[in-house]
Amino acid sequence: MIGEISMIDEKPAIEGGAPVRKEFLPVGRPLIGQEEKDEVIDTLNSDWISKGPKTKRFENDFKNYVGSKYAIAVSSCTAGLHIALTALGIKAGDEVITTPLTFVATGNAILYCGATPVLVDCKISDFNIDAALLEDKVTENTKSIIPVHFAGLPCDMEKIQKTAGKYNISVIEDAAHAIGAEYNGQKIGSIGDVSTFSFYATKNITTGDGGMITTDNEELAAKMEILSFFGISSDAWQRYSPAGKINYDMVELGYKYNMTDIQAAIGIHQLKKLDRFIETRKKYAEMLNKYLSEIPEIILQENKTNVRHGRHIYPIVLKTEVLKIDRKGFIDAMRAENIGCGIHFVALHKQYYYKKRFNFNDNDFPNASYISDRIVSLPLYPKMSENDIYDVVNAVKKIINHYRK
Ligand SMILES: *Cc1c(COP(=O)(O)O)cnc(C)c1O
Repeated sequence: MIGEISMIDEKPAIEGGAPVRKEFLPVGRPLIGQEEKDEVIDTLNSDWISKGPKTKRFENDFKNYVGSKYAIAVSSCTAGLHIALTALGIKAGDEVITTPLTFVATGNAILYCGATPVLVDCKISDFNIDAALLEDKVTENTKSIIPVHFAGLPCDMEKIQKTAGKYNISVIEDAAHAIGAEYNGQKIGSIGDVSTFSFYATKNITTGDGGMITTDNEELAAKMEILSFFGISSDAWQRYSPAGKINYDMVELGYKYNMTDIQAAIGIHQLKKLDRFIETRKKYAEMLNKYLSEIPEIILQENKTNVRHGRHIYPIVLKTEVLKIDRKGFIDAMRAENIGCGIHFVALHKQYYYKKRFNFNDNDFPNASYISDRIVSLPLYPKMSENDIYDVVNAVKKIINHYRK
């Protein structure tokens, strides 16, 4: 039924009832227009398809958008985190604080540098790192903090910056979810020492795969630019241009982490559409909030008044202790209704590798452990229609009504 919440008393499809919808609704999908396609063709018809003029244009557009002095396009957000940490001198023996409720990429980047990830539990209310617990975990080896703006909701940057300032610790924001988000009127990407963004297929804007690093620090920017391209001190594409220097010199041990002009061609047009994308995400998230907040068996992410939420994903936490099904049961039941769900994330301390290497215990991070076992991402993206949102609400209500204790 269009625009109506109407199926809540019916039998779930997984029990033999009729599904809420006929066509499968994936949990995430990119929205690519003709402008992106034309720009990619234009790039392919040009003489430069790797890092070149379009990457420079995308970097310029991006830094103007977030209001940072510098932007460096890279192959992924993970690569961005790695070279941000490297440029800040993070090395073996150093400790880097982050949240357990993140994608493995955040922790992995810390390990690439030989440093130790120190986890600070998140809050049940907004799923972000609990900034009040930060200071307790600071030691003389703490060199950096990586807050993750979960789902696009900015962390308590005031408290994080204050603690970082007190102990002379750098702040690298994992802004993979927070492209376009704002904190106290300031765009994410212009607050911490460095911020890293992701353009993976399902993120707020995409280049297929790709990332961006922003900073206001000239020295750091120059270092990260060099680290993103083998450690070589002048851009390859400049070497081949008439004005370019033929000679090159490797001054650092760098990586092959640059973006290509084919990716940047997509990014340039995605960025122009970002604010419209976020408005649609916001409208849909508010519809979901309105209907799902009536369900006592579900915890929603609490919003804040001093932020613009990036609305990258729509997480719900199932109070499985008052349900007859667990998280897998819920996801399977949603799938039978033809609605895809995701898990963002299985917490870092619960991953096999991290558990084995660092002896992490669930009791050390009670909130992240609780959330990690119960969190589900519902579909939320601009390619959806309002009817798709009603389908999601109908399916959730139908399943919860059927399986509540
Ligand atoms: C997606 C994601 C990343 C990694 O981004 P890539 O561009 O795929 O490297 C890092 N952190 C978080 C929180 C993410 O969701």
